[in-house]
Amino acid sequence: MALAQAAKYATANGDPRAAQHALDLICEIGAAIAELDRDHAPVPAGVLDETVQILERVAQKIEKEGWSICPCGEDHGQARADAAVPAVMRADAGLVRTVRTSIDR
Ligand SMILES: [Zn+2]
Repeated sequence: MALAQAAKYATANGDPRAAQHALDLICEIGAAIAELDRDHAPVPAGVLDETVQILERVAQKIEKEGWSICPCGEDHGQARADAAVPAVMRADAGLVRTVRTSIDR
């Protein structure tokens, strides 16, 4: 899932706070989904908002600041992944936004 990718990118590119934040969100969403069967409790709106924010932030870092899945300096194909990932993250962010809208109603 895109949040796990975001955490990996943030770790690889020296932003442990963003990485921790992404991992926290994964845990919170996981916990909410586990509750879902029993209580029909939705994932909290704030968690969804933060998920959208961090996905878009990391997508932008990849595009604008050259974040790479492997910033080791050697080229072994990561440029192709780095070029593809931002669109995937934005697509997931869009999906989360759609879910968020359904909560508002
Ligand atoms: Zn490498």
